[in-house]
Amino acid sequence: MLYFIAIKAEKGNPVLPQIRNVTEEELAAQRAVMARVAEENAARSAQPLAWVDTYGCQQNESDSEKLRGMLREMGYAFTEQEAEADLIVVNTCAVRGHAELRALGNVGALSHTKRAKPEQKIVLCGCMVQQEHMREKIKNSFPYVDLVFGTNELWRFPELLERMLAPHRGRIFEARQIDGERFEGLPVERAGSVRAWLPIMSGCNNFCSYCVVPYVRGRERSRRPEDILAEARQLIGDGYKEIFLLGQNVNSYGRDLDGGEDFAWLLKEINAMEGEFFIRFMTSHPKDATERLFDTMAACEKVERHIHLPFQSGNDRVLRAMNRGYTGEIYRKKVAYARSLMPDVALTSDVIVGFPGETDGEFEDTVRLVEDLRFDMLFTFLYSPRVGTPAASLPDPFTKEEKQKRFDRLLQVQNRISLELQAAHVGNVYRILIDGEGDRPGQLTARSSHNRLIHLEGSPALVGTFRDAAITGSNSYSLSAELRDKEGD
Ligand code: SAH
Ligand code: SF4
Repeated sequence: MLYFIAIKAEKGNPVLPQIRNVTEEELAAQRAVMARVAEENAARSAQPLAWVDTYGCQQNESDSEKLRGMLREMGYAFTEQEAEADLIVVNTCAVRGHAELRALGNVGALSHTKRAKPEQKIVLCGCMVQQEHMREKIKNSFPYVDLVFGTNELWRFPELLERMLAPHRGRIFEARQIDGERFEGLPVERAGSVRAWLPIMSGCNNFCSYCVVPYVRGRERSRRPEDILAEARQLIGDGYKEIFLLGQNVNSYGRDLDGGEDFAWLLKEINAMEGEFFIRFMTSHPKDATERLFDTMAACEKVERHIHLPFQSGNDRVLRAMNRGYTGEIYRKKVAYARSLMPDVALTSDVIVGFPGETDGEFEDTVRLVEDLRFDMLFTFLYSPRVGTPAASLPDPFTKEEKQKRFDRLLQVQNRISLELQAAHVGNVYRILIDGEGDRPGQLTARSSHNRLIHLEGSPALVGTFRDAAITGSNSYSLSAELRDKEGD
């Protein structure tokens, strides 16, 4: 019912989503719980170990950094060995059936580790368990899971954990069905030292007909600009070299705020901060990608020369059925405008193959769009029905095999294009950010402003620095490069 109201609100009904700010008292109560749990953990003979396992998108990665931050504050250290963990937290994804199956498979395997270590506690959280049918499944089929909490309970994790740790409490299931809450100030334990996730908003109001996100992440709500800018300043001060702004639809940032700030404004403000760093962002919905956004990207030298602009389908009937709010022609015009301002801009996209009722002819429109626009990279997904979404009840006469055939064909087309575009980088010199060590000793990984993955040789001391590098080779997913200046090598 809540979602019905929200959809009507999107179409002009005066009923507005009920977004609440979590109060300072509520957060203080969570901090008090963290202090209590930390005290108990400090009294144990050995420091307890936690393992946080994350599925899905960058938003989930960012939420896991908050889970780790709270766990650290509660006296936990971390391990990646599930057998030795006292506490396992699985942060799940629901966007496609495959992600759910993988998470469930791994939770199934945890029954063995728990048998070997009966005092071990298992926690499931995130998008998958925000869905009622999934909580029922866990209740019935995974009796050894101790605590399950949905996306709306993230800031209440300390309180839920303390309840779980209390003796003879039984299993806990918590997932409020609300439009959403805003909160600030949870501790964060960041996974990397070069790239930092910076969520600028949560939720989504778009209700694309195939997508579960609006149902599991609630209504769109933007963080206050001053909180985002303070966090960006802090990250840059701490030495992060890539600020990655996150939201399901970053282009609608600020619509729910009073101040008139929008995403382009935010990009400009962060771009003006001192220091050498990249600003990246994800995801841009084409219907909200305005000329103002592209103008701003072009004017801001720290903003990546890359835009991830998911088109989902090249056919107008399918786009309408998906409730995407643009046509193939509008999408092409936006890309043409972006390329007129930034001829070297990298374009990546998401596409769904086999939306219910998509015909061979309609799929051909997608292939044509891919051939015409020549994406640098394409994330190709087979349509996966999601419980409760409108598309899941549409008739679909096409078989899995037919869809797989189309999928393979599109992949082939894209692989050829990726190879050609990648090869065109060879011989160019780019300013690259060295962001990690590669698989082999002496190998480093880096990114250009076009978000190309680059491999090169060099000392680990170079990680976290910007360097000029000449591109010397390519394959369909990465480039190889040589440093121009060997300083620091
Ligand atoms: N907010 C982002 C994307 C979120 S989900 C956006 O609107 O672009 C990431 C991608 O997963 C989507 O772009 C879409 O291509 C894919 N996806 C979402 N739901 C899906 C489903 N039910 N089946 C297959 N792919 C799906
Ligand atoms: Fe899902 Fe559409 Fe929202 Fe993206 S914009 S999260 S695809 S509903």
